[in-house]
Amino acid sequence: MSPTEKQKEKPEAFRAPKGMRDIVPIDEPYWEKMEGVTKSTARSYGFSRLEPPILEAAALYNKTSGEESELVLKEMYTLRTKGGDLLALRPEYAPGICRAYLEHSLGRVSQPQKLFYIGPVFRNDRVQLGHYRQFVQIGFEILGGQNDPIYDAEVITMARNILSELKIKNPILKINSIGCRVCRPNYKRQLQGYYKNHEKELCEDCTRRFATSPMKLLDCKQAQCQPFKEKAPNLLDKLCFACKAHFRAILEYLEEVGASYEIDSHLVRGLDYYNRTVFEFFADGKEAEIGALGGGGRYDYLMEMIGGHALPALGFALGAERLIDVMKAKEIAVPPKPQKRVFLAHAGTLAKKNAFVLREKLLASGIGVAEALSRESLGAQFKVAEKEGLSLALILGQKEVYEKSVIVRDLAAGTQESVLIEKVVDDLKRRLKA
Ligand code: AMP
Repeated sequence: MSPTEKQKEKPEAFRAPKGMRDIVPIDEPYWEKMEGVTKSTARSYGFSRLEPPILEAAALYNKTSGEESELVLKEMYTLRTKGGDLLALRPEYAPGICRAYLEHSLGRVSQPQKLFYIGPVFRNDRVQLGHYRQFVQIGFEILGGQNDPIYDAEVITMARNILSELKIKNPILKINSIGCRVCRPNYKRQLQGYYKNHEKELCEDCTRRFATSPMKLLDCKQAQCQPFKEKAPNLLDKLCFACKAHFRAILEYLEEVGASYEIDSHLVRGLDYYNRTVFEFFADGKEAEIGALGGGGRYDYLMEMIGGHALPALGFALGAERLIDVMKAKEIAVPPKPQKRVFLAHAGTLAKKNAFVLREKLLASGIGVAEALSRESLGAQFKVAEKEGLSLALILGQKEVYEKSVIVRDLAAGTQESVLIEKVVDDLKRRLKA
């Protein structure tokens, strides 16, 4: 067979689907840090973990996000099961969290329920900087209890604290209120009245959204639509008394804890179910280009949309990959992977078996072990120890097996001594402590 024929036979290498990435070992410290910060924040604010399945009925999202929403129309991955059910890979968490709240009667236990999650989300987004098709969201939701603005301030403060723990300094908080069922319909009509005069000059998306979701026109990024956005009526001027008071209270709480914010009257967020508070966080400096690091808001009507009662609800989600992108771009250091503590080397077949048993004993005692048990020469094994930067080694040879002992070698100092196997755990613990 000629080399070209051979090449032809070689199957094409598989690659991860477009917009979907592997979490690779080199990034493990970032993920560890993020999960650690999430869990400790959750614990201190009294949040418990709720993880809905990745697949849910597609209708759950059609009902909550709105059939006309970008998320449902363009971005949701759906599949038909062999049994005929139409399921969706979750494009966001809140509807699944609310479904689970109802399914498990979480309304019967203490209210509000404070819930958090860390898991993958799927959106058939246009792949570009900060936009992936599978990404991890870290989120916190507060369901039930009172519709108290202190909770809006609480989730915003939590998001801010997480960013601060990750050493992402001076994040920019943009916040807005998009009103409620009382004040919003009136505003929408005014907005439609205003945009009607410019209908022909709008971009394709805005022309489509004009009739059903006029508020999304405020969020349009197309250059041709910017001049109209600037002059559009401002919802903040049209809020009802209750929404105004709610929004003012949140801002006051934020001021009390020294959280700076920018009121952005064009911030509406993409989904139909939000009411009153909406907010987003961005990195400062050029990393703002990566996009919002997280966002959230209040969604008091969502539970009704899926068969429950109206229920105060709010939350936020941070995008893990974007956080990591920002941490890398800003050269924020994360603690390295904890070092395996002791290197275990062997010489000879019998010693290899004994080393295998000794490793189990050490691990059971909580001592981390690095090894190169599949390599036979001591020289090759020590090369691995050197690569891993270890300074303490155990060596088992034929003689040690018969004497039921092991050599403990300080690789840095070049000194060594023989220790009985039954005493080695205590000996190592003492040395590692020192
Ligand atoms: P959203 O609910 O759409 O605002 O999403 C919450 C957070 O998830 C955003 O602020 C981003 O940090 C992150 N996110 C949203 N879409 C993507 C995406 N396509 N790729 C990566 N991260 C995303």
